[in-house]
Amino acid sequence: MHFTGRTWRPNYEANSCIIQMTSGCTYQKCHFCNLYKDEPFALSSLAEFEEDLNEIKSYQPNAKRIFITGANPFALNYERLKPYILTVRDYLIKCQAIAMFARIQDIKNKEIWQLRKLRAMGVNGLSIGTESGDDDTLLLANKGYTSQDILEQCRKLDEAGIEYYFVYMTGLAGKGAGYRNAINSAKIFSQLNPYFISVDSLTLFSDTKLYDKAKRGEFIPAGEKERIRELQTFIQNLRIRTHLFANSKSNFYPIAAYLPKERNSAIRELQYVIDTVDEQEMNAYRNSLQSLE
Ligand code: SF4
Repeated sequence: MHFTGRTWRPNYEANSCIIQMTSGCTYQKCHFCNLYKDEPFALSSLAEFEEDLNEIKSYQPNAKRIFITGANPFALNYERLKPYILTVRDYLIKCQAIAMFARIQDIKNKEIWQLRKLRAMGVNGLSIGTESGDDDTLLLANKGYTSQDILEQCRKLDEAGIEYYFVYMTGLAGKGAGYRNAINSAKIFSQLNPYFISVDSLTLFSDTKLYDKAKRGEFIPAGEKERIRELQTFIQNLRIRTHLFANSKSNFYPIAAYLPKERNSAIRELQYVIDTVDEQEMNAYRNSLQSLE
């Protein structure tokens, strides 16, 4: 397999076949992120991609789902993406979903008819690192889009029938702003149809702009209890039927809930953690984290 640089996939893609089509990130400007630092975006050749598909076919001829690596392979426009997607079908006839990461901006370069065609070719399951739906937080994190962009672009995915997943990041708005972030994000996300929402919590890594800001006193990180209260508020205000997974390593307390059915029990469980664990213990956990997960 032709893996170069950092190979990263979400934990929920653990059972998918992983293949490299791109490496690096086209954007590289989010202030909390160091994932693809110094790794410029690159597209693998179709020949290399095909060799890897052949290898996958040799040990998993019935693969049903593949996950294409790189921070945002969906940045490729329709014409450039199409030959790669069609080649998957040449090798993996039973493959039902070709999933990948996408930025909100990556959807902009595609018309709805193109998205529909990609869906028909098997593209399904876009992991979108929205992080927030609150404009001030999006600006602070330098995500490069607004809440209105999230609405406009994801409505196109809804129309094309492409399944997508959101990421929400607690703590990203900074101390005292978690409540606002949760309310505004829930309002935006509730107007869309994410198949599930995955929740991470901000960890400040030393080679990021946000870390530098924190050192200069321009960004004050939210405490751990504030983040859990933020998550409670987010859960409380989401008005869609969806799954929420706040169980990656960056969450002090792992929790998963099917909403709205498990809304109250999830909020109660989080309250128990707030009431029984002290902030110091939570901080020690945060400081022990070595990577973005
Ligand atoms: S968060 Fe995603 S889009 Fe932003 S710089 Fe990191 S990899 Fe790129």
